[in-house]
Amino acid sequence: MKVRFWGTRGSLPVALTAKDVRQKVIDALKQSNGKTFASDDDIVSFVDNELPFETKACFGGNTSCVTVDVGFDTPFICDLGSGARPLGNAMVKRFGPKNPQTYHVFMSHLHWDHIMGFPFFVPVYIPGNKIIIHSGHSEVEFAFRRQQGEPSFPVTFEQLAANIEFQVHEPGVPFEVEGTKVLSIRQKHGGDSYGWRFEKDGKSMVYSTDSEHKIDDREGQEAFVEFFRSADLVVFDAMYSLLDSISVKADWGHSSNIFGVALCQRAEAKTLALFHHEPIFSDAHIQSVLLETQTFEEATRGMHELNVITAYDGLELDL
Ligand SMILES: [Zn+2]
Ligand SMILES: [Zn+2]
Repeated sequence: MKVRFWGTRGSLPVALTAKDVRQKVIDALKQSNGKTFASDDDIVSFVDNELPFETKACFGGNTSCVTVDVGFDTPFICDLGSGARPLGNAMVKRFGPKNPQTYHVFMSHLHWDHIMGFPFFVPVYIPGNKIIIHSGHSEVEFAFRRQQGEPSFPVTFEQLAANIEFQVHEPGVPFEVEGTKVLSIRQKHGGDSYGWRFEKDGKSMVYSTDSEHKIDDREGQEAFVEFFRSADLVVFDAMYSLLDSISVKADWGHSSNIFGVALCQRAEAKTLALFHHEPIFSDAHIQSVLLETQTFEEATRGMHELNVITAYDGLELDL
């Protein structure tokens, strides 16, 4: 199973500003102070091995879109946030414009940041393509049609060349897609959201974003521990700090890094990927949250060691 992150930002796409890039250049030059480089390779090696992630790179600004390659022709797609635009371009590059494919999309929910990439997902404009959108929401077709309705977009849903199909699934009832076992769970979020679990050849991956967990809801937590059970990877909504998520932002429908660790440790999941980053957070801040989360995991670790990472646009994982 291969997982690739095309969009990891929550709520709204963001981009680095001129000021942000300037600061990264200043930080890189400061850290290279006094060093001399004999060749371009030396420069590359310094950047790759000595500069911290927040200086040499960025977590990225596209909204939710993750692919899971289960060995089918096209990878499964989780959500169609603005990350679906680069994904669509990559698919057209891979298959060419005259080689129709079937795409399976699994939607967490229908908020703008999770559907806004669909009109820019080039495969929808290619005749012969089939796009099957799996959802827990009965309004799924309405949401996609409305997004392209006049006067909001120049191309209406009816004008799309691909054959687009919607399938609504009951949470907790497993089904199979192209030889992969798929299961969904209802999550606490405005208008509900759904987490997805994919299992194939002994590997499993969970996509659980836009999901709030309540400290006093023991039963709800147990359900998620079971849903995450022994997963090789759990992609988890860690938009807020624990304190914010239980105080000023309680009931806003999102969770925290700390809850992610607690649930994944109990589930004995292998890797937790923090996801749906708050748009106002800088790269340095997201990096500091990761270090804090890793320290927390170590301090609260029992018999099971959980690997904690932070997802960024472009990150690829081999499970
Ligand atoms: Zn969202
Ligand atoms: Zn949402």
